[in-house]
Amino acid sequence: MAELESLEFGKSDFILLDEVTMEQFMENLKLRFEKGRIYTFIGEVVVSVNPYQHMDIYGKDSIEAYRGRELYENPPHLFSVSDAAYKAMKRRAKDTCIVISGESGAGKTEASKYIMQYIAAITNPALREEVESVKHVLLKSTCVLEAFGNAKTNRNDNSSRFGKYMDINFNFNGDPTGGHINNYLLEKSRVVQQQPGERNFHSFYQLLRGGSDDVLKSLHLDNDPALYTYTRQGAATTTSNNDRSSHKAVLHALQVIGFTEEEIHSIYETLAAILLLGNLEFVCDGESVSLSEPLALTEISALTQTDPECVRTSLLYRTVATGGGDVIQKEHSQQDACFGRDAFAKALYERLFAWIVGRINSVIEVKNYNPVLHGKNTVIGVLDIYGFEIFDNNSFEQFCINYCNEKLQHLFIELILQQEQEEYEREGIVWEHVDYVDNQIIVDLVEQPHKGIISVLDEACLTVGNVTDTVLLQSLDQKLSQHPHYSSRKLNPSDKSLEFQKHFRIQHYAGDVTYCIDGFLDKNKDLLFQDFKRLMFSSCNGVLRQMWPDGQTSITEVTKRPQTAATLFKNSIVALVQKLACKEPYYVRCIKPNELKSPVLFDDARCRHQVAYLGLLENVMVRRAGFAYRQPYERFLQRYKMTCEYTWPNHLMPTDQEAVRAIVSQHGFDADVDYGRSKLFVRSPRSLFSLEQERNQLI
Ligand code: ADP
Ligand code: MG
Repeated sequence: MAELESLEFGKSDFILLDEVTMEQFMENLKLRFEKGRIYTFIGEVVVSVNPYQHMDIYGKDSIEAYRGRELYENPPHLFSVSDAAYKAMKRRAKDTCIVISGESGAGKTEASKYIMQYIAAITNPALREEVESVKHVLLKSTCVLEAFGNAKTNRNDNSSRFGKYMDINFNFNGDPTGGHINNYLLEKSRVVQQQPGERNFHSFYQLLRGGSDDVLKSLHLDNDPALYTYTRQGAATTTSNNDRSSHKAVLHALQVIGFTEEEIHSIYETLAAILLLGNLEFVCDGESVSLSEPLALTEISALTQTDPECVRTSLLYRTVATGGGDVIQKEHSQQDACFGRDAFAKALYERLFAWIVGRINSVIEVKNYNPVLHGKNTVIGVLDIYGFEIFDNNSFEQFCINYCNEKLQHLFIELILQQEQEEYEREGIVWEHVDYVDNQIIVDLVEQPHKGIISVLDEACLTVGNVTDTVLLQSLDQKLSQHPHYSSRKLNPSDKSLEFQKHFRIQHYAGDVTYCIDGFLDKNKDLLFQDFKRLMFSSCNGVLRQMWPDGQTSITEVTKRPQTAATLFKNSIVALVQKLACKEPYYVRCIKPNELKSPVLFDDARCRHQVAYLGLLENVMVRRAGFAYRQPYERFLQRYKMTCEYTWPNHLMPTDQEAVRAIVSQHGFDADVDYGRSKLFVRSPRSLFSLEQERNQLI
């Protein structure tokens, strides 16, 4: 818990609220935001409100103030948790993780960057060269990932369109020796289409606006994003990002990380190929489909170092194996050809992104680590992943993202409770069970084998024949009609909020979300014609070929169905949760104060909603259910010894614990405390306030 700062700024820990009610919580949150106190504790959890303005609290002085200190010695800050995680890792050799959650634009990515910067600043005091270079690459990787994985959306000018989990490895000195990045579900649909007012990924605009004339010429590109179908809409969209200077910074970052010139060029070639692909149109003369832009075709083949004729056939035909074992070329309809082109563009980008992450990992991965020689290799993980999303129109992507949030919320509840319990056990204090909302039932609704939504979805994708999204919805209705967290119009015809026949609704822990079934099947199948994979594997560019290893299978071999998008995502999230669960967790819960990116507006209703679905009130209750406040005896004495005649200036008792007992009984709150092995536990914050007031009068 933080020092009990002056109350003018509100309470620096929600645990100190007089009463745990939504009203009091919101009042405190608002007051602190208005006073420029954007961070507040709930015990060890940091609640953060996006200030939407520059804050002078991340500089060298701040870093020094937090370095090596205990949580409660300073006002709440990201650095408090960063240091706590670092200390646990260094002193107790614990693997730790910092989980940052909140909705889009709440400040997660900024927080993760400050955390990384803090860790970089406090490590390697001896400035050893290998360590410095690891730190450099770790910090630079953020810049590259943002260029390729972020985009301007209506909520956030620099919105991460992928989830990121980064492990930082440390040696016995507590210095970073390497790391590893996992990326989750890149929103690749953005490559070919964006919502009104939004842009494609930054990387495209950066290349077009920042690339030199020579480079653009060699890529068969012009410098105007309005010329390309995939970037046209975004070209007119204003953004606070300067694409030209970002292009330079990204190029520099790629070089620092160790991408070769050839690799960097291959990245640009891929981007160019995607842009040109997007401009390809198909014409149909009533009988057959052909390409309207033969020149673009040659350029695409040059950029991807593939045979132009093969590019053409991959776009217009599909190779299929007949029952008899023959292989034939089937011509696409115009619609199939467009679908294929877009799927190809999306896949090119997705694989490029995955390859970039993999390439960064190959540089930062810990090499030649010898535990005997170097001691235990410990880890701090930082998770910056999309928060809960409720849009006007929610589709497959929101379904996946919200499922991920259910999983993380479940882990949060489990770990927070477990941590409390463990501390009580360690200190020899009797633990009282706390009731909390368990969202396991919603997790099951989505992921349970045979019965869950993903499984019904996969089954529909596997069924041969005319399965449509409507049929899928019917089978969901059938299988899940009894589930208390699932509903649809068919099941509740009188429910006015479920207006359309095409929707189903999940009662998430964070609120009800209505999903439109349109596109679920296609997005889950994530079909990419095999011809494109083989085409890319035939490229003379080694870098591109590396991205498409599955292109080497011959058509007759391709019988096994690839896993569906939902199942792949589920598996990656299950693995992520396993990774997090075995680490000591620290939490940053981010809140977005308003929709206008305003530094002065606190939109009460919106904030209240976020507090509710982040389960913050519950978090306070859990924390207070036992003891609101705890502190090692020695620290408690240091702070309050002046309030008691037996302890001032020094006590003569055999132990600190006995001295603390003397203070407690002099102030008459014996019934409100319990004595642990090393810490004092206080139930109600009021006792502490009276103590604090007395101290203030004395100093
Ligand atoms: P998220 O990752 O949660 O979607 P971001 O971290 O990208 O959100 O934050 C959105 C925007 O809010 C940033 O681009 C920045 O302008 C502003 N912002 C967030 N955190 C801070 C902060 N600590 N100080 C100043 N501005 C911030
Ligand atoms: Mg982000």
